[in-house]
Amino acid sequence: MGELHSLLKRQLKKIYDGVDLVPKEISELVAVINNAYQQADIDRGLLERSLEISSQELLQNISELKQAEEAQRKSEERFKQVAENAGEWIWEVDANAVYTYASPVVEKILGYKPEELVGKKHCFDLFTPETREELRKAIFEIFAKKGSFIRFINSNVHKNGSIVFLETGGCPILDVKGNLLGYRGADTDVTERKRTEEEKDKLYEELMKYRLRLEELVKERTAELTIVNQKLKEMDKRKSDFVANVSHEFLSPLATSKQYLELLLDGAVGKIGSKRRDRLKSIEKNVDRLARLVSNMLDISKIESGKIELKKESVDIRHLVEEILMTNKNEFKKKQISLKKDTPSDIISIFADKDMLTEVIINLLDNAIKYTPDKGAITIKLEDKAGEVRFEIWDSGPGIPQEYSEKIFDKFERITAEQKEGTGLGLPIAKDIIDLHKGKIWVESRDGKGSKFIFTIPKNLKEPK
Ligand code: ADP
Repeated sequence: MGELHSLLKRQLKKIYDGVDLVPKEISELVAVINNAYQQADIDRGLLERSLEISSQELLQNISELKQAEEAQRKSEERFKQVAENAGEWIWEVDANAVYTYASPVVEKILGYKPEELVGKKHCFDLFTPETREELRKAIFEIFAKKGSFIRFINSNVHKNGSIVFLETGGCPILDVKGNLLGYRGADTDVTERKRTEEEKDKLYEELMKYRLRLEELVKERTAELTIVNQKLKEMDKRKSDFVANVSHEFLSPLATSKQYLELLLDGAVGKIGSKRRDRLKSIEKNVDRLARLVSNMLDISKIESGKIELKKESVDIRHLVEEILMTNKNEFKKKQISLKKDTPSDIISIFADKDMLTEVIINLLDNAIKYTPDKGAITIKLEDKAGEVRFEIWDSGPGIPQEYSEKIFDKFERITAEQKEGTGLGLPIAKDIIDLHKGKIWVESRDGKGSKFIFTIPKNLKEPK
């Protein structure tokens, strides 16, 4: 085009140069042609420029496309590399659940080579027949929602026919418009874990069965024991009744014997010599002891057979303690025991059976005096507390070893080292009486440092009875 233009220009110049006078039309025509050529030059320049730009852009696009293709190829390579080296079986399926990729691990897990699955099997084809249909439906429901899933346990049939449990997780593969292309995921062989779990379940079941059997056995034995216990209770009641009757029978002859002894000692049936007096005195002492034992046994059998009824009344316990101490004044004197009292000056009213409460305090005081050595000390403390009264009696006797602190409240339990006279019934009676009043009784003692017997008893002032 450029060459043609210059050729024409040269020809026109020759015409101009050869002709002195050019007609007007020709010169106008030449001007038009000149313009046309100039315009054509501009257009051609523009065209060449835009052609140059387009080809540059094209080259740029081609190189970008190549880069993108390279990146995709690399990423696929990486995926395969990861997939092929992973411990799990990595797979891809299309939107119809047909395998499009399976990492080689599948052969170890299910016995199939990847090429036996890719393009040939649906993912649900490997499920055990009894679960297949249900799981197929479940899979397509997930596909429809394009949802992800994890820890989906499924049972599969290995190529050799054995059952393999897999734990599956997967996520959808979507195109740029969000259409489902398929799924990509991983499977872990959990057969071993599942078996262990099943074994654990079996063991647990066995254990449960064993426990049930044990419970049944315990129930049976408890029922048997209840019957035996009932029988024992009946026997115990019969024994208590018997003891009560016998004791009762004992009391009147003992009382008569005592009366005769007193008459004899008073000289009512004639004078007696000192030797006989001593013998009679010794008999009287034994009769007294026997009477005490019988009366204690009578008390305990009455309480234990439930025959006893509390005759509750308003009692000033502070006054009651004073009275009991007065009657024992001589005992203190005889053994030169010093008495310390820590009692409030106001009256302390409680609602209790006065005679029984008296018996408790006497039993505790008798023991304290009995076990305190000559010139020892006894402290009595009374505390008026909210809702209850606390009584403490502290002696300077031998104390009670820890292992006996509960036993001594059982019938006939005596500390073997103790040689003092007694029946072993004083404390059990005291405990029964305190129990009847819904109180508590216990001993605090350190061997060799004296004993402190304590009881608390509710005041029960509002009780109507
Ligand atoms: P007992 O008639 O033998 O005193 P108790 O039931 O009153 O019967 O007491 C039971 C035993 O508890 C006593 O034999 C004695 O060994 C021990 N005991 C009770 N009180 C005291 C005490 N204050 N100090 C040391 N031992 C005691």
